[in-house]
Amino acid sequence: MARSRTTGAADSRCPSCGAAVHRQWVGRVAALRITADLTPLTPEQQHAVRTPNRLIWCLHQGGPYTPPQLRSISPFHRADCPHPHVTEHHCNPEPTTLF
Ligand SMILES: [Zn+2]
Ligand SMILES: [Zn+2]
Repeated sequence: MARSRTTGAADSRCPSCGAAVHRQWVGRVAALRITADLTPLTPEQQHAVRTPNRLIWCLHQGGPYTPPQLRSISPFHRADCPHPHVTEHHCNPEPTTLF
């Protein structure tokens, strides 16, 4: 992901921690405002973070004229999906694993 596009309105930053996130309204009827991390997750990470309260999203890369778009992942989502899978952004405090 060496490309850096600053044209789309989709890319923004978390006001709390400043991390680059993708913001988007998802859903037509009951729209959710999703703030997603831009870091693709490995299948292991997806399995680890997936909880009833934290969803994984498929981040379709936009074209030259279309912004990236989050898509929900169904149980039939293709395993070899070429798009990065990301999760909702949760502000991480400073790493505290080292004492
Ligand atoms: Zn996908
Ligand atoms: Zn944050």
